[in-house]
Amino acid sequence: MSTFNGQIEEIRHISVDSFEDIACKCYFLSHCHSDHMRGLENLSQISSPLYTTSLSALIIQKKYPSINVQILEYGCPMNIKFMDDEDKEVQFIVTALNATGHCLGACMLLFQLEGLDILYTGDFRISLKHAQNINVLKEIKNYGSLILYLDTTFLSQSYKHFPTQHESSNKVIEIIDKHLSQSSSHRVCLQPSARYGYERLLTDINKKFKERVYIHEEAVYDQYLVISDLSSCITRDVLNSRISLKPSFVNDSNGKAIDKNTLNIKLSAIYWRNWNKNCPFECIDESKKSVRVCYATHNSESELRDFVTFLEPKSIVPTVMPDSFQEKEIMRAMIRSMIKSFKGIVEDPKPKNRFKRLRTINSQKCVEQISKKLKK
Ligand SMILES: [Zn+2]
Repeated sequence: MSTFNGQIEEIRHISVDSFEDIACKCYFLSHCHSDHMRGLENLSQISSPLYTTSLSALIIQKKYPSINVQILEYGCPMNIKFMDDEDKEVQFIVTALNATGHCLGACMLLFQLEGLDILYTGDFRISLKHAQNINVLKEIKNYGSLILYLDTTFLSQSYKHFPTQHESSNKVIEIIDKHLSQSSSHRVCLQPSARYGYERLLTDINKKFKERVYIHEEAVYDQYLVISDLSSCITRDVLNSRISLKPSFVNDSNGKAIDKNTLNIKLSAIYWRNWNKNCPFECIDESKKSVRVCYATHNSESELRDFVTFLEPKSIVPTVMPDSFQEKEIMRAMIRSMIKSFKGIVEDPKPKNRFKRLRTINSQKCVEQISKKLKK
């Protein structure tokens, strides 16, 4: 759960994934999970732009049509320029990176000023084994002065490992297969812990069973319909689907599909504390009416360590902090241990009201250079 207050300390007057301060000149949204959208309704009252990806824009505009949404295309640097309250120009470049593996429309945000690169990861689950991500990250690593705002959701010794999404997906398919094979009246209901982030699972299920998944939430169904890979995998016809998707927090009165032959499959990561690679990652729920499967959409501790070690950032700002003082101290110590080999700095996520003065940059030249580098 993000605890980030939205302030990128090095850039004045902007806010990322937090919309409670309406005095900012522009806003950025990494993805459409509620903990990253706090106060978003406030933007309907002001004209300041909100920059996000086209898929996230689709979700936002449906709910808040008067927000001034501007689209960030993946991998295309955009020059942002505005005058601050003292009539001084603030200028930087932002690029949305399609390297999160977290949910529909999610992006990392790369902010670039002269001599300073800031990567805000948003929420993410990526394996460094994925070559398509590596190229972008290699380039960022070469920038050399990286400040990393890092998704630290599972930066804890209790969550050292998670199965890969591919393994989790195969496990879910195996469970569905076993249950549905009992009779044509048997059904399964997937119950993820978040509204978005299980899109890959839907396509995997469709491939295996040649059956469309019933989407309980009409608004989500409408959003999925515009994505060509997903539109052929989903339905709103409850009578013609034996597999359905309903997030665990949704109270939907359309429960006709839930009966004694329906198996609920609860998908989450937080339940799987102290899981290791020798353990199963499915179990019968306490109610004995459900099966739990570990399906992580955030990096595990070991994956975070790999990511940080690869990028060697100059400093790290954690964007998810635990509640207690003691746990905060443990997290800071873990980050220090991760980066001690390359002399980085751990930053407290609280604002310190000290901002670097932006220098004038040749923005067009910079945009062209960055475009070239990212497309290599
Ligand atoms: Zn998220």
